[in-house]
Parts: sequence; structure tokens; C-alpha cells
Amino acid sequence: MAILEIVTYPDKFLKQPTKPVENIDGALQEIIDNMGETMYQAPGIGLAAIQVGIDQSMLIYDISPQGEDRYLNVLVNPRIIENEGEVLSENEGCLSVPEYRADVKRFASILVEAYDRHEKPLRFEAHDFLSIVLQHEIDHLNGKLFIDRISPLKRQLYTRRIRKQIKRGE
Ligand code: ZN
Repeated sequence: MAILEIVTYPDKFLKQPTKPVENIDGALQEIIDNMGETMYQAPGIGLAAIQVGIDQSMLIYDISPQGEDRYLNVLVNPRIIENEGEVLSENEGCLSVPEYRADVKRFASILVEAYDRHEKPLRFEAHDFLSIVLQHEIDHLNGKLFIDRISPLKRQLYTRRIRKQIKRGE
């Protein structure tokens, strides 16, 4: 297994919509395992393939509390079928958006369809924190970052700060 490099904002690669996965094959299994290792090491609770330079519709997540048994969930070609309610995701962050957190409005509940890594069709409801995590990751698959969901002014301030840091070579 290998730790993969995480693509960060403002890299334009993160803006492109991903392609549907057509084959859940050995190559994909290897990508999933490497993504898992990368996410746990970061540490993070969710990671979309696009964040490690792979423009395919696939994401992983694990929101089990620290210290408990870990379980790597995989969603291939996930889609949000229905949504309901509203919740404020406080201090949302992202491995691809360094040194920044913001409050984001999210749906409180969603109904998701996807395949797991063994090509089994999944259909399930997600509420509250899991719902937020999945909306964040599925956004990635559509070329969207959480900072695309905050006010233009806040986004501009962050963009300016990060561009200055890049210029200074930090
Ligand atoms: Zn993210």
C-alpha cells in the first residue's frame, strides 16, 4: 500500500466533474486501499478519488470515533436521490483546503444510492454528521469544494491568503 499525494486548492483539477466508474476491478481495489491508508494517515474522515488525482466517481469514509474499530466504507458512483431539512455544518474542513474551516449549510438528511467495493448496490439514508460528510464528499465528485458554498467575500479572503503563501513558497 502507499500514501498518495493529496491535491490541494487552488489546483484546478479539483474543479472537474468526475467520470463514472465502469469496472470495479483489481486496479480500483488497489486505489481504494491506498486511499484508505492516505485518509487514515492524514488523518481525515472522508476522501474522494479526485483528491488524490483520480477523476473517477468514488469516495471513501470512516466516521467511527477514535479508538473504536475502524471500518472503511466505499461508495462507487454515489448519487443523492432525495434530501430533506437543513443543518449547519460547523467548522467544516477539507484535506484539499489547508488551514481553513467554515460553517456550511447542508441538508439534514439524504437518501443515497451507490455501489460498494464488491459491486453490491447500496441504498441508504444518512442523517446529521454522516449526511454532512457524504454531501461534502459527493460535492468533490461534482467538482465542488465546501468553500464554493460560503460567501464570495470569505472565499476571496481565503484565496488571497493561500495565493500569497504559495508565492512565498510556504
Ligand atoms: Zn473535502
